[in-house]
Amino acid sequence: MRRSRNPRSCVACKRERPPREMLRVVRTPEGEATLDEAGRLSGRGAYVCPEPQCVALCLKKRLLEKSLKCEIPEAVRTRLKELAHVDEESVALAENALNDEVCSTLSLAHRAGELLIGQDRVLDAITAGQTLLVVLSCDYSETLMRSLVLKGTAPRIMTEVSRLELGRLLGLRQAQIAALPAKSGFAKKLEELLPEEGGNAVE
Ligand SMILES: [Zn+2]
Repeated sequence: MRRSRNPRSCVACKRERPPREMLRVVRTPEGEATLDEAGRLSGRGAYVCPEPQCVALCLKKRLLEKSLKCEIPEAVRTRLKELAHVDEESVALAENALNDEVCSTLSLAHRAGELLIGQDRVLDAITAGQTLLVVLSCDYSETLMRSLVLKGTAPRIMTEVSRLELGRLLGLRQAQIAALPAKSGFAKKLEELLPEEGGNAVE
């Protein structure tokens, strides 16, 4: 079977390149993700540039999981990092890029008037039956987390954003919690950027 020469786009940077210049991860018919190093495997494939930042970003944002709709085994992650020479610097750059996206999405939502800010407003809205996507700063209080869990809410944690930073972003002294209607486009974007707790984090 001849492999297509049509350009493919990278799951991380979206740039198009010939497939032979990229790393390809395939979902086999058994539903397992595997790295197609020889370029021969058939199955649904996802492509990423062999550059450290693209691989770091795609692991951090779980882009291969999203594209292939299956788990990516640890061995595949490790091999991708090896092949692309992912180092601490590229991981830090990927984290920064992700964090910038989270922050800009929140400020856009804020400017669009969709954001509920602060514990009281968010908890009241949940009690009133609103379906919200709740985000917390990394230094959230355990008491607040317990109140949310008691109300059946599973907040997303912004691992790089502190109360002070969230506050600054929203024009307040500090803020540890914000929420927006789950059906809002901004909420969908944030859901993509912030993995659920318990998902396997990529370090
Ligand atoms: Zn790329």
